[in-house]
Amino acid sequence: MKLYHTPIHLLHQQRQKGQVSTLEIAQAVVGRMQATEGQLHSFLSTYPDRALEAAKQADQKQAQGAQLGPLEGMPIAVKDIFAVPGTRTTCGSKYLENFVAPYESGVTGKLAEAGYGLVGKTNMDEFAMGSGTENSAFGPSKNPWDLSKVPGGSSGGSASAVAAGQALAAIGTDTGGSIRQPASFTGIVGIKPTYGRVSRWGMVAFASSLDQAGPMTQDVTDAALLLNAIAGFDPRDSTSAQEPATDFTARLGENLKGKKIGVIKELDLSVADPAVVKVFEANLELLKKAGAQIIEVSLPNIAHAVATYYVIAPCEASSNLGRYDGVRYGERSAEAKNLLELYEQSRDQGLGPEVKLRILLGTFALSAGYYDAYYLKALKVQNLIRAQYKAAFAQVDAIASPVSPTPAFGIGERAGDPLKNYLADAFTIPANLAGIPGISVPGGFAGQLPVGLQLLGEHFGETKLFSLAHAFERELDLQKPPLAL
Ligand code: GLN
Repeated sequence: MKLYHTPIHLLHQQRQKGQVSTLEIAQAVVGRMQATEGQLHSFLSTYPDRALEAAKQADQKQAQGAQLGPLEGMPIAVKDIFAVPGTRTTCGSKYLENFVAPYESGVTGKLAEAGYGLVGKTNMDEFAMGSGTENSAFGPSKNPWDLSKVPGGSSGGSASAVAAGQALAAIGTDTGGSIRQPASFTGIVGIKPTYGRVSRWGMVAFASSLDQAGPMTQDVTDAALLLNAIAGFDPRDSTSAQEPATDFTARLGENLKGKKIGVIKELDLSVADPAVVKVFEANLELLKKAGAQIIEVSLPNIAHAVATYYVIAPCEASSNLGRYDGVRYGERSAEAKNLLELYEQSRDQGLGPEVKLRILLGTFALSAGYYDAYYLKALKVQNLIRAQYKAAFAQVDAIASPVSPTPAFGIGERAGDPLKNYLADAFTIPANLAGIPGISVPGGFAGQLPVGLQLLGEHFGETKLFSLAHAFERELDLQKPPLAL
């Protein structure tokens, strides 16, 4: 197995036995990144020197007899939504093209404490609004299984980087599916943790009540290791949860015997591609064979999740994006003659069409006379969905579904049809509305394209979720076809 296609926990074992140096690992990844980036465009900025330097430091430490942490010196990519001093943080937007944050985000601060090597900052849909990186102001990333397809979005660059071996792991963010869907499209593991589990400090805000950062990795064990590093209370984020530190690897290795896996009675699989349904059904059979019980649960309001999300998320976005006013940071129109023109022209020139659409939708839904009809009503439906998940988790350990109704779609295929993209979020959005954790784990292939299985867990139930996903991963032992590059 190539070093750049080896999970971090295995590489860590190998280096502890003296079979490989951390510098060799970093050189393999950086070399792979440089060789493939021209075709993939996973990154908006790359930092090979940082990655190699962190690896050298890890080797030195090891030579002095110190015990290394699993992430020390490992080349890891970070979505370009996180503030990292000395790097541009564009959030996929022309508006922030030259923005360099003067401080460090909570997530990358913790990764730095764990000794990671930043290999690059990954491409994304502008302000994380989208499903294929096609809304990036800097052009789309490509799917390493088929270069004519998107890698998913909005954390698509993180996904293509990990799948192609340009980074050993990456961090993404998920507001309505943006970690899980690209993980599914590229055959990797991605987890959206419980809302509040990971700090949002220094992570550019899209919809603050739904945004959550999480790992995107080659396997489930690595996802647990990365979450160990980035989770935890942060007083700088007022919604950060005061949960005690947990070891998310604690239950890896358990089996599926007697575990209760829920399937949603109201889940409309008729909207899904038959190849996706086939993989999902085979995955359920496998869970059963491994001793799990499949139990039907009812979530009667799940059909309203997409509509609810596409009110709440744009409302919060329209408020959050008010800070891009041409005054404080980023784009500033040179021609404006007065303050109003400065606002109008800076926003008009700096923001892309999808972002403008969301601001308009949100501003409309929050305007006087419409607030009760749209935003308030959406919050009520969200509460019902939350309560229905809570009731379901009294009966089951996890809830299974496909991640996305289709495998990766073609670049340009959904251009000009935002509604099609919105509807395709139907399976991922409910977890964000409910605030619960959700993991995407490779479930199979539709031809050459990967298809993920989604498992949802109860609030702060990540340790159990990892153990179930890990057991599934082991049972499936998926043999992947070769990449396109
Ligand atoms: N595709 C969804 C959207 O466009 C989700 C994005 C996300 O999770 N950041 O809003």
